[in-house]
Amino acid sequence: MNVHLLGVRGSTPAPGEPFARYGGHTSCVAVTVAGDPAPTLVLDAGTGLRNLGPLLGQAPFRGTILLTHLHWDHTQGLPFAPGLDRPDASVELRVPAQRGRSAARLLSRSMSPPSFPIEISGLRGQWRTRLVHPGTLTVGPRFTVRAAEVPHKGGRTFGYRVTADGACLAYLPDHALAGRPTAEARALATGADLLLHDASNGFGDRAAADAYGHSTMDDAIRFARACQVRRLVLIHHGPGRTDTDLDALAAQVAVAEEGGDLLIGLGREGDVIPCGQPAPAAVH
Ligand SMILES: [Zn+2]
Ligand SMILES: [Zn+2]
Repeated sequence: MNVHLLGVRGSTPAPGEPFARYGGHTSCVAVTVAGDPAPTLVLDAGTGLRNLGPLLGQAPFRGTILLTHLHWDHTQGLPFAPGLDRPDASVELRVPAQRGRSAARLLSRSMSPPSFPIEISGLRGQWRTRLVHPGTLTVGPRFTVRAAEVPHKGGRTFGYRVTADGACLAYLPDHALAGRPTAEARALATGADLLLHDASNGFGDRAAADAYGHSTMDDAIRFARACQVRRLVLIHHGPGRTDTDLDALAAQVAVAEEGGDLLIGLGREGDVIPCGQPAPAAVH
């Protein structure tokens, strides 16, 4: 699999020159399986979904979008992605089940008048909305996905474990790791080739992480090591963190990486990360 980071910012977009290198778009990841010309699976639909277009060339998107939860930074790209809003698009949009409501009803709480001019049904193309329940689901012809609820704040939130062609990606962009990780969270990440994990807060920034239902960088690194992950990429950067701030955190991450088997880095918008292939040796 190739994993494309289309948006690595959490909470709200961060436009402008101070944020240009790590990128300002919110949560969105596209996955391409070897042999496919373009991504057929997208994880979350933050404003980074606008970056999907160049990966599709002139083609429409035909595949599945899995949302971890319904916070704005994971949904606001839905109506603004040119490859999706066109007559020949075919999109299965899946939403964590909650409150006994249909997927369309859950989505319409934030995407319908007066909050937004149209509902999902107003987009062009063939859109199907479905709920996701905890467990294992087959997504298209290539992916098997395990879905499980993880701790966060304000609505039910899932993490996903995506496998294809023997490679394994774990995706937990919004995950409160305070205290012991849950068995469900550990099961999602254990042995993954690549873990994309919430690092909204820096080293030791415990109070802020707990207040907003996120994780610190040291939380994420400890969790990845305990789960014997091969490579950890930290995402969901706080919207106030400039490139300079993130460079400083990357230096701390490099120190944390020393002497261990776990490869650790900070995700940047535009990164394409091979998953399930031999990882490069860590440079110390
Ligand atoms: Zn988020
Ligand atoms: Zn969230």
